[in-house]
Amino acid sequence: MSKVTLKQLLEEGCQCLEQQEIPDARVDAWLLLSHVFHLRRVDYLIRPDAKAGEVLAETYRDCIRRRARHIPLQHITGEQEFMGFSFKVNEHVLIPRQDTEVLVECVLEHMSGKSSGSVLDMCTGSGCILLSLMAMKPWAVGHGADLSDQALCVARENELRIRKQVQRPSFGASQPRIRWIQSDLFENISDKYDIIVSNPPYIPSEQIRTLMPEVKSYEPVMALDGSGDGLAFYRRIVRDAPEHLSAGGMLFFEIGWDQAEAVSRLLKDRGFDRIHVKKDLAGLDRVVYASWME
Ligand code: GLN
Repeated sequence: MSKVTLKQLLEEGCQCLEQQEIPDARVDAWLLLSHVFHLRRVDYLIRPDAKAGEVLAETYRDCIRRRARHIPLQHITGEQEFMGFSFKVNEHVLIPRQDTEVLVECVLEHMSGKSSGSVLDMCTGSGCILLSLMAMKPWAVGHGADLSDQALCVARENELRIRKQVQRPSFGASQPRIRWIQSDLFENISDKYDIIVSNPPYIPSEQIRTLMPEVKSYEPVMALDGSGDGLAFYRRIVRDAPEHLSAGGMLFFEIGWDQAEAVSRLLKDRGFDRIHVKKDLAGLDRVVYASWME
């Protein structure tokens, strides 16, 4: 047993992260302590002076050193919560963002009251969008497409992981209702769907270098970079989606806060109807969706 207590260790962690100007240093130092020692907040508050085991204390210090180098917290813990589920993440996928929950909620609203239907999640990454939808709508068929094989490996692992968290027979392994497809956008997609949802890379290339180090140095550039004006993926998806939508099918996009007008225009020019914009919790434009009536 080392002499160090949990409280001392936490203070040490805080100081180290503050010195390196890690945003929310105190929160991250606590989350790493909780992760390494499997502690709930209440366990810590009851016994902050409990002695920390030597091995775990060293593990904690190692996690703190990594976070101090701006490695994202989620790459150290290996997970991120999204829609109430815990998803595995690593350097091959975008870390699920809370903003994206607005996109999922929007799709869920349009699925409510139905009892059959199919969804394609284009640029699925960790699979967080598709798997959240499938967990909540057990009758739906869902395909997730991504260019990256490494991302699809994570998505497949997440399928097993979410199945354990849902514990509903309808999420069972025997039903091939979820499929992962390696594809450069629609290249290897042959089906038609009732819903296509996508959170594609949408950051203009020259803005990537202005992002926080956690994002620009550790998250996959291919999940962020929307090329010149950030709209490259929207253009290609809007162009090809109608071929893969059933009549009356819907296309849902997550967008950057200043892209609603441009993306709505792309949809309008391609012949989409009923174009809507939805805001996130911060009041910024975050989702654009539209119907394909032909
Ligand atoms: N669909 C995934 C997400 O929303 C990945 C998005 C991406 O790689 N741009 O988290």
